[in-house]
Amino acid sequence: MIRRWIEEMASVLAENRACLSELDSPIGDADHGNNMERGFRAVLATLPETEDIGALLKGVAMTLISRVGGAAGPLYGTFFLEAGKPLAGKTELTPEDVVQLFENGVTGIRKRGRSDTGMKTMLDALVPAADALRSTLAEGGDLAAALKAATDAAEAGMKGTIPMLAQRGRASYLGERSVGHQDPGATSSYLIVRALGDAVE
Ligand code: ADP
Ligand code: MG
Ligand code: MG
Repeated sequence: MIRRWIEEMASVLAENRACLSELDSPIGDADHGNNMERGFRAVLATLPETEDIGALLKGVAMTLISRVGGAAGPLYGTFFLEAGKPLAGKTELTPEDVVQLFENGVTGIRKRGRSDTGMKTMLDALVPAADALRSTLAEGGDLAAALKAATDAAEAGMKGTIPMLAQRGRASYLGERSVGHQDPGATSSYLIVRALGDAVE
């Protein structure tokens, strides 16, 4: 499941390279899609030959941190690093493990980015996704239903960044002029959540 997720992320981020960089053009430096596409191409090329989920996620993290410049590489790297830490040695995930994967990853981004929801960043898609995962499972839904709910929540969160004033990253330099544009990082986060749902199907 995790290997399929990684492959699915690489493919969907490559497909959306131009669109993500376009979103980054009015409120950034127009490189977000290129950063993500290049980063995940390197991830596929360096992925360890193991079924150990912790080791796979750590591999993703190390490659993103060392190979992707800018804000998103180290932040997504931190997400996968923290997500994978409790999963060292595991070869299968329970639905609860998947919730914790997201919650630990999000906590990592919050700390590393000194950021939270409402600041017009990737967290505006990832946090509602993690919350929807947890609440859908708590209501008795299965993992597929929880990932569907998480994808919908991430999409709504992504769109919710449009009216926000950016408070982190390059977009924050624009102040009021950042309002009215969808955040590129929240968009890649939506694609990353959706990719997990597709990998589990
Ligand atoms: P750069 O801005 O360095 O060119 P990218 O374009 O690859 O890097 O990534 C920009 C995205 O990173 C933004 O759209 C935003 O979602 C995210 N981002 C930037 N700073 C932070 C932060 N401090 N916390 C969380 N996310 C951030
Ligand atoms: Mg950029
Ligand atoms: Mg850049």
